[in-house]
Amino acid sequence: MRRLLVLGATGSVGRSTLDVAARHPEKLEVVALAAHRDVDGMLELARRFAPRVVAMADADAAKRLRQSIPGCEVLSGPEAICELAGDADTDTVMSAIVGAVGLSPTLAAIRAGKRVLIANKEPLVMAGSLMMDEARRCGASIIPIDSEHNAIFQCLPSTYRCGEAPRGVRRLVLTASGGPFRETPLEDLAAVTPRQAVRHPNWSMGPKISVDSATLMNKGLELIEAAALYGLPPEALDVVVHPESVIHSLVEYVDGSSLAQLGQPDMRVPIAHALAWPERWESGVGGLDLASLGRLRFEPPDLGRFPCLRLARHALASGGNLPNVLNAANEIAVEAFLNERIGFPGIPQMVESCCESAASAGLPQAASLEAVTQVDAWARTWCRERLAEVAHHA
Ligand code: MG
Repeated sequence: MRRLLVLGATGSVGRSTLDVAARHPEKLEVVALAAHRDVDGMLELARRFAPRVVAMADADAAKRLRQSIPGCEVLSGPEAICELAGDADTDTVMSAIVGAVGLSPTLAAIRAGKRVLIANKEPLVMAGSLMMDEARRCGASIIPIDSEHNAIFQCLPSTYRCGEAPRGVRRLVLTASGGPFRETPLEDLAAVTPRQAVRHPNWSMGPKISVDSATLMNKGLELIEAAALYGLPPEALDVVVHPESVIHSLVEYVDGSSLAQLGQPDMRVPIAHALAWPERWESGVGGLDLASLGRLRFEPPDLGRFPCLRLARHALASGGNLPNVLNAANEIAVEAFLNERIGFPGIPQMVESCCESAASAGLPQAASLEAVTQVDAWARTWCRERLAEVAHHA
């Protein structure tokens, strides 16, 4: 019996995780749930799954929840969530908190030597080597949930463990849908709205990752994520645009064989794989009808249309703290775009200027949690100051 904690329980991946968990009550117990501040969402989940503990990052939300579910322990604040991630009541942690705030609790789960299912890519982008080193040191198993990285994991030998360089592999090929603006005329991109940007053609996801898919920053972050998980150099990592999102990624071996994982674009597939690994469990998702799909298309990514992918490649090749700066600047830029403070092309512009300024800012290069946090905070402040200037001049 696995004992599960879901971090980010009320979000899109959190709910899909609980959907899979509900199909296997004899194999999996939902022991604890954590979320940011969605009280109604958490209330519904707590009634359905009766966890022993719930935690809310937002103190107000925790207080309101406490009044609504007497008899269930309700923890409050980010520190409490970290303690929950590291305590001995659970052995399996789904890490699905969106953004940089997911780093500390994920690291706490890794340091407790748990099976850690990583759905949020930002921590691996910010502090990939720190996380993988700690996983090795503490005996934690890391299993990726991001559909591309989970696909790659599925295409590697069953003895493979994340953090090792896989043997006999020439390159990894990540597939990208190309997002909703793959064919939008370039001159129209300046005027696209947040509503258009979050309407992904194949996947149903949260707003932040949907915007990242529209700029292709999502694929750029995934390249950095893949380098951390699979210990391969940047030149062994490729991206191909595949608009149908049926092939989730490929592993090309040195003998010329490529293995791919295919499936419907539904996060319950990688989630069920990771929860069950090395077994296989029912996920609630059907198979593919290849004859009705008819054909699958592939094309190279257009780096002129999608500068974020180019910026992420540059950050990956430069290494050091640049991926962390890129990630933080992107989070602020996406938030500003969603709040209609900057336009769609403003996202790569802000990320690029922030990355350029980082070079001369005297930021720490060491990969301790403190250094990572300091660099992340610097980039956020830098972007917020630029936004304030723009607002002031407008
Ligand atoms: Mg993905």
